[in-house]
Amino acid sequence: MAEFSLDLNEDNLQIQQWVHDFAENVMRPAAHEWDEREETPWPIIEEAAKIGLYSFDFQAQAFSEPTGLMFPVALEELSWGDAGIGMAILGSSLGLAGIASNGTPEQLMEWGPQCFGTPDKIMTAAFAVSEPDAGSDVSSLRTRAVYDEAKDEWVLNGTKTWITNGGIADIHVVVASVDPELGSRGQASFIVPPGTPGLSMGQKFQKMGIRASHTAEVVLDDCRVPGHCLLGGKEKLDEKLSRARQGIKSSGQAAMKTFEATRPAVGAQALGIARAAYEYSLEYAKERKAFGRAIIENQSIAFKLADMKTRIDASRLLVWRASWMGRNGKEFVAGEGSMSKLYAGETAVYVTEEAIQILGGYGYVREYPVERWHRDSKIYTIFEGTSEIQRLIIARAISGVHIK
Ligand SMILES: Cc1cc2nc3c(=O)[nH]c(=O)nc-3n(C[C@H](O)[C@H](O)[C@H](O)COP(=O)(O)OP(=O)(O)OC[C@H]3O[C@@H](n4cnc5c(N)ncnc54)[C@H](O)[C@@H]3O)c2cc1C
Repeated sequence: MAEFSLDLNEDNLQIQQWVHDFAENVMRPAAHEWDEREETPWPIIEEAAKIGLYSFDFQAQAFSEPTGLMFPVALEELSWGDAGIGMAILGSSLGLAGIASNGTPEQLMEWGPQCFGTPDKIMTAAFAVSEPDAGSDVSSLRTRAVYDEAKDEWVLNGTKTWITNGGIADIHVVVASVDPELGSRGQASFIVPPGTPGLSMGQKFQKMGIRASHTAEVVLDDCRVPGHCLLGGKEKLDEKLSRARQGIKSSGQAAMKTFEATRPAVGAQALGIARAAYEYSLEYAKERKAFGRAIIENQSIAFKLADMKTRIDASRLLVWRASWMGRNGKEFVAGEGSMSKLYAGETAVYVTEEAIQILGGYGYVREYPVERWHRDSKIYTIFEGTSEIQRLIIARAISGVHIK
């Protein structure tokens, strides 16, 4: 009989330690510098590539691990090291997830390794969905993909915004509308291979947090990609469009499928920031003296830490459950993927704010990492579906009602 256990298996324990060592020894010492520089930390990505952490092979290993916990365990450690550098390392995984969830196995094997390159030739990927007028509402994408049958090419036109690795990536996975009248069901995902003319970077954004991660607009101006760059292939797309035109229900839209698979992983990153802030403020509270005693001896401080730890542990359980469900083909009947991202994201914001309060003035200045963790945490209630959108998904799932 199968036993219930929350013990990590040997493989996952090893990965946890391996990523933790990298986070502690390479990422943490570099975190402040790259936050200030607001640039992609290429030397750190190279280090990660050298040990195999930034690689297609590691992604494949994590995705095939049977419990589904290898990825969240690794991501929690990375983000514990530093969320900005962590996102710079992980940005390519989002592009890969776009390929894995919509492409054929052949497309995954062709393009997946190119999302990471090799330690000698680092490559990166981006997943471009959001547009200036279509963030939460992905059904209203304006970027168009038109098929040029004579040349067997797709012509992409439009502007994507807030794209992680946007414009600097080697591989861009772009979601575009093939038939705007069909909303999300008329969309498809395309690979834009390295160096394709017509794709350029627009504005690079200056951000509140995760500043080591590059975020920019991607401009597509008559950007032509070969027919085989349509993820899933033309036949499958034609079938999907025809079913949509006849009003037959589909199993999921291109972008939504990718986000569903990646949400617990995003929750795991938020968890890493929360844990970093909790550990730091716990130690601080034991050391810092006021009125002749350690501040942790005051219930008002100790209870904060108790609440922080409780919410962190609850977040981890939600993240692990959703990751396990995703890996083992369980249907997310109550929006469990969304729950994990929602709760972990809001916990990270809450915990890092409480950590600032525990550190007092030291929490508010840049010499200490806590204010950076708070700035980094806020994105986790916004990207990959805002907290409101996660609540909408959960509410619809549990009620069966199309709540607006
Ligand atoms: C740093 C960063 C990195 C990003 N990386 C990527 C990336 O790599 N690829 C990519 O495609 N996108 C990326 N994004 C975009 C991100 O996913 C969007 O910003 C996000 O989905 C929200 O969209 P929006 O900004 O248009 O907000 P809007 O959709 O305009 O929402 C504004 C507010 O209204 C609320 N709202 C909207 N609709 C509803 C509703 N129906 N019910 C209740 N409330 C609602 C929202 O919750 C939010 O509070 C990134 C964004 C940032 C900031």
